[in-house]
Amino acid sequence: MKTYQHWINGAHVTPSSSQWLETVDPYQGAAWARIARGNAEDANLAVAAARDAMYKGPWSTMTASQRGKVLRRIGDLLSDSRNAQRLAEIESRDNGKILAEMQGQLKYIPEFWYYYAGLADKVEGTVIPVDKADMLAMTLREPVGVVAAITAWNSPLQFFALKCAPALAAGCAVVLKPSEFASASSLEFAALTQEAGLPAGVINVVTGLGQEIGTPLVEHPDVAKITFTGSDRTGAKVYEAAARGMKRVGMELGGKSPNIVFADADLDQACVGVVAGIFGAAGQMCTAGSRLLVQNSIRQKFTERLIEMARKLRLGDPLSADTEIGPISNPPQYEKVLRYIEAAKSEGARCVLGGAPATGQGLKGGLFVQPTIFADVTNQMRIAQEEVFGPVLSIIGFESEQDAIDIGNDVIYGLAAGVWTQDIGRAIRMSKALRAGLVWVNTYRAYSCMVPLGGMKQSGLGRESGIEAIHEFLETKSVMISAAAAAPANPFLQR
Ligand code: NDP
Repeated sequence: MKTYQHWINGAHVTPSSSQWLETVDPYQGAAWARIARGNAEDANLAVAAARDAMYKGPWSTMTASQRGKVLRRIGDLLSDSRNAQRLAEIESRDNGKILAEMQGQLKYIPEFWYYYAGLADKVEGTVIPVDKADMLAMTLREPVGVVAAITAWNSPLQFFALKCAPALAAGCAVVLKPSEFASASSLEFAALTQEAGLPAGVINVVTGLGQEIGTPLVEHPDVAKITFTGSDRTGAKVYEAAARGMKRVGMELGGKSPNIVFADADLDQACVGVVAGIFGAAGQMCTAGSRLLVQNSIRQKFTERLIEMARKLRLGDPLSADTEIGPISNPPQYEKVLRYIEAAKSEGARCVLGGAPATGQGLKGGLFVQPTIFADVTNQMRIAQEEVFGPVLSIIGFESEQDAIDIGNDVIYGLAAGVWTQDIGRAIRMSKALRAGLVWVNTYRAYSCMVPLGGMKQSGLGRESGIEAIHEFLETKSVMISAAAAAPANPFLQR
């Protein structure tokens, strides 16, 4: 069985407790590797390495352009098909995401590193035409400090890029803690960054349980910023702890995104978008379009089309090329999905597809759930209000555009939304009215390193991707320089 140590200060480091956690392949249902069970002592070591790298080591003396070049080389390493394939297989094995999707993700992840490589030396301060005589006033944009990045299990390498590429471009150093359920790919990738010439200590990865190593990281006095991806429950705890140290936070949390289909939509396209939006990654996506809002005049017809398409989805080994849906990533999540299915049934939602564990030939590991569709859902039901994070779609009918807006917005979340219509005016009105960080029109699950992503309401704080993301890792410092030839006559008068 493979053993993964922490990655601290450019080296593999044994956990100070000498304890390990097994990491399970959800398809085989067996441990395939073990990871370090970190604690506060390991967190201290990693934060010290990051602090030294940022303030004393070569990272602190490199120009922004030089930092950008290192990021570019990281992108190049990821573009190398051997590295990409190896990382894709490791992550697929660790969290059950299908290999085809991982390969697609890894084709795109280098773009994040290239994008922020290019941005690194375009961070500019300003010169202010200040209202004081003999004074030069300006702003400097400085790295916020050591960053603790805490990530979820569903897309570890993607989160690594979303958080670390802009943080490094800003000049920060990072300690990343991936989920206990899927740490291997982050550790492998961190070690690879050394080949790109990233100085030791700039990226550290420590593993273990949230409470044992996540909490000490969040509370560490030398950590200035926490960037978190995970559930809103844990996010709230982290936010509270961060507030005690007045730390900066970025939060990417849950969602209950509406995917809204109007009668005037291209229904072929919409059907594909709805299916991909909820059954891709077995629904384990923060942006899953888990509420289908469909106009009543086409509800029956559209539901039948959906069932027809979803019924044919192939479940199986995530490493096999023709698999479309893999297992649920880990046992607690599997139990949670099944609990929600039962809750939906008991609330009176009508199960029109699936609604049970999936078993049979080729479905090993005991963590498969049938693609599930509930019709006759009302927006008050728990299945419409709470995040399932699994392959479960709730169908809710609506009459008018205003209805769709009201229902769409009537959840605590505001991460993403989809709108399917051929009417450009409606597309614009809906894009403006929906309270979501990202609205897709006639598409779903389209991402770009250039386009900000983040949540409104309880879906989070701050934005990842795009130019905005680099500002999340910068502080503004104002500098006022007197050019006066002589001291003021009365030094106690404000100038
Ligand atoms: P969790 O909130 O359970 O965990 C997220 C991370 O926080 C893990 O690394 C976890 O470690 C760690 N953690 C747990 N407790 C603490 C603590 N007290 N202090 C510090 N860190 C802690 O989320 P999941 O891993 O279950 O991920 C699923 C959730 O992530 C879903 O709700 C989903 O919506 C959200 N998500 C959001 C995305 C977005 O961009 N908005 C994208 C993808 C997912 P450990 O695993 O060891 O417990």
